[in-house]
Amino acid sequence: MTTTQWYERKYYKEIEDLPEEKYDVMVIGGGIAGMQASLDLGDMGFKVVLVEREPTIGGYMFKLSKTFPTLDCASCISTPKMASVAHHPNITLMTYCEVEEIEKKGEGFFKIKVLEKPRFVDATRCTGCRQCENACPVIVPNEYDRGLVGRKAVYIPFDTAVPRVALVDLDHCVFCGQCERACPTDPPSIDFTQSPKIHHINVNSVIISTGFRLFDAKIKKEYHYGEYPNVIDAMQMDRLLAPTRPYHAILRPSDGKEPSNIGYVLCTGSRDITLGNPNCSQICCMYSIKQAQLLMGALPLADITIYCIDIRAFGKGFEEFYQQAREMGVNFVKGRIAKIEQKENKDLIVWFEDIGNGGRLKKAEHDLVVLSVGLLPNPGIEKIFKNEKLELDDIGWIISSDENSNPAKTSIDGVFAAGCAIGPKDIPDSVLEGGAAASQCAAYLNEIKKGVKRNG
Ligand SMILES: Cc1cc2nc3c(=O)[nH]c(=O)nc-3n(C[C@H](O)[C@H](O)[C@H](O)COP(=O)(O)OP(=O)(O)OC[C@H]3O[C@@H](n4cnc5c(N)ncnc54)[C@H](O)[C@@H]3O)c2cc1C
Ligand code: SF4
Ligand code: SF4
Repeated sequence: MTTTQWYERKYYKEIEDLPEEKYDVMVIGGGIAGMQASLDLGDMGFKVVLVEREPTIGGYMFKLSKTFPTLDCASCISTPKMASVAHHPNITLMTYCEVEEIEKKGEGFFKIKVLEKPRFVDATRCTGCRQCENACPVIVPNEYDRGLVGRKAVYIPFDTAVPRVALVDLDHCVFCGQCERACPTDPPSIDFTQSPKIHHINVNSVIISTGFRLFDAKIKKEYHYGEYPNVIDAMQMDRLLAPTRPYHAILRPSDGKEPSNIGYVLCTGSRDITLGNPNCSQICCMYSIKQAQLLMGALPLADITIYCIDIRAFGKGFEEFYQQAREMGVNFVKGRIAKIEQKENKDLIVWFEDIGNGGRLKKAEHDLVVLSVGLLPNPGIEKIFKNEKLELDDIGWIISSDENSNPAKTSIDGVFAAGCAIGPKDIPDSVLEGGAAASQCAAYLNEIKKGVKRNG
């Protein structure tokens, strides 16, 4: 939410203007790429401020089940990283904050305005005990579990959130005061008098690691996502499979039964010019194969069919991972999905063009369909630059201005980018790019400190 929107809401008395702060680097986005860049720069002795718009850092990775192709536990890898970021002496963490404006005042000098949104909970007192949450009577869909279960109007996003501090969602709060009465701190940490704050931050360099957003499958109307309960997206399936999952079973939404015949629709929202996204999202084939393997472990009697244009298994160990899924019994069908229909018992009929067998229109029945949604850029990052132009490609990914010799460099000198903010990629590549952005940024900072004039 922007400052103007907060003004319009009038949930507070006034926006508090804070005095100037100074750091070497601002990292925008606290997913795996941004955390890696912050840790590497912090370890080199640079003072880093990491700005994350959500109430916790972690990005998509900590929501995942396992990672392809090694099937390592995603949250076991990301949780210690989140803790290292929070405890690093050279990293200042600003969660639930939005960068409003970046003005480049000269080489190595950026003036930045950051909006800190009120949590309506005093972070210095809150112990993360969740007693407020237990007392709150309001239940709304939980974003972390992609709407599969509910959360309260006052909540901590998930058990290992960093920071583990509650926040009140005023859009759904009914102001009953139960949370305040239940809070054991003295005085209670719930504080409805909090105002948004504007931070004025001066830095020498910026790293953008704002990641991606998922394709909204509702746009693909013929698949009826959001309408047919047993059509879910792959992020929901990753939550169902995760060790931190909402319930300890894979259940289909319509009736809570274990599915026995699951269909995957690859390239939902990717490689589709009718939707304005001709790009391959690079990871959907592999995350679907990963989920199919995990499902075969969780539901040994289930049939799994993956409908695809082709399988793109380009990385190290990926082809072997794909062949392993075939050997385990996953059925791969070359077919574009025309439409999905729902039967009275909420089972689904998938109509597809059977490319592998002459292109005839065929239908198959499944009791759960998973849409392997593609990755799209988070919109609007270029608009925060006041007097410089951040170059984006036609889809909206940040362009690397020197892809071969300085891949993290953007069109603005002193501004670097990493991870999925540049384009879709997997976790190892996002981590590598976080490290690359940190070292290129460190070189830039050293030149600025030495007063060496750079020429791009
Ligand atoms: C269903 C699914 C399964 C996957 N499975 C795997 C797998 O098994 N193996 C694998 O390698 N990869 C997998 N991936 C890919 C993996 O999630 C990404 O590679 C990884 O999350 C990219 O990290 P990132 O830091 O670049 O972006 P993100 O994880 O998107 O993090 C970006 C962060 O920036 C924040 N942000 C965005 N905009 C702003 C802003 N304006 N201001 C401040 N903060 C902002 C976001 O809130 C977020 O915290 C999967 C992805 C999906 C969707
Ligand atoms: S005041 Fe709002 S957040 Fe607190 S318990 Fe009531 S509904 Fe929940
Ligand atoms: S606001 Fe109070 S009750 Fe809620 S988690 Fe924090 S300390 Fe516990």
